[in-house]
Amino acid sequence: MSALVTTLGERTLEEVQGILPHEHVFTDTRQGEPPGFGQGNSEDVEKLVVPWLQKLQKQGINCMVECTPIGCGRRVDIMKAVSEAAGFPLVVATGIYREPWIPQWAVDASGAKLYEWMKKELTVGIEDTGVRAGWIKLSAGDDGLTAVEEKILRAAARAAKECSATIGSHTIRGEVVLRQLDILEEEGVPLDRFIWIHTQAESNQEFHMQAAGRGAWLEFDGIGGSPADEDYLGLLQSALDAGFGQQIMLSQDRGWYDPAHPDGSTFKPYTYLMDSFVPLMREAGLAGWEEQLLRINPFRAFAR
Ligand SMILES: [Zn+2]
Repeated sequence: MSALVTTLGERTLEEVQGILPHEHVFTDTRQGEPPGFGQGNSEDVEKLVVPWLQKLQKQGINCMVECTPIGCGRRVDIMKAVSEAAGFPLVVATGIYREPWIPQWAVDASGAKLYEWMKKELTVGIEDTGVRAGWIKLSAGDDGLTAVEEKILRAAARAAKECSATIGSHTIRGEVVLRQLDILEEEGVPLDRFIWIHTQAESNQEFHMQAAGRGAWLEFDGIGGSPADEDYLGLLQSALDAGFGQQIMLSQDRGWYDPAHPDGSTFKPYTYLMDSFVPLMREAGLAGWEEQLLRINPFRAFAR
């Protein structure tokens, strides 16, 4: 049976009411690993994040995908502590961000070594946390994949196939996504195991249709930020009209404790989507899609 691999064990569809597929608990996006990079006290993070997870749970969302890969200060030990304190399961990622955030060890590593490392995180666990990665998070440059990014993508493709895991990529331009899909096809990965993170950043919707037409997931995931809610509604409606309702996910890219700022910076609540966007969807006559978009699709996209 397929299930989500979370910080609190596996979760089947029956156990999940609602899932946010792209949020953050602890992330550090500073380049070059300056002093204090990725450093944080788990009690401070819990104090900031746990109440918001509990509020989210009251809204009927009881699972969240944490999207921080290597290169962005990933701290699975802290995510695990937060998750346990809130009683809220998180799906955490293996994988590596794009250049120039890719750490030197990964630049130097062979594809085979990167594959073995991701496979270990997906099947055995991450560091000494006892938590398995639930999926693979990557990225690509805006003007195309660099050689190192392509090496990481091919290693991820092999790990994804072996572990029946999904790959999600922060990719801003549609042309780059189509190249990633070509590579995954070459590696034998079914394209319904690929999530186009930040689909909304590509303004040419023709690319959305092409990627979805090949089987990929579209993720409209900056709701509550940019663009405006009405624009998200338009993007959603277009993809639904084109018949891709089984391949769309909605999220906010919100949170998070950022160690680059005092007290982890100003937190962006996870509750925006249910408080503000879902009512707009209902007004637009899309209430019938809530279960599909907020529960079934993200479950199917990430389940292993
Ligand atoms: Zn993100």
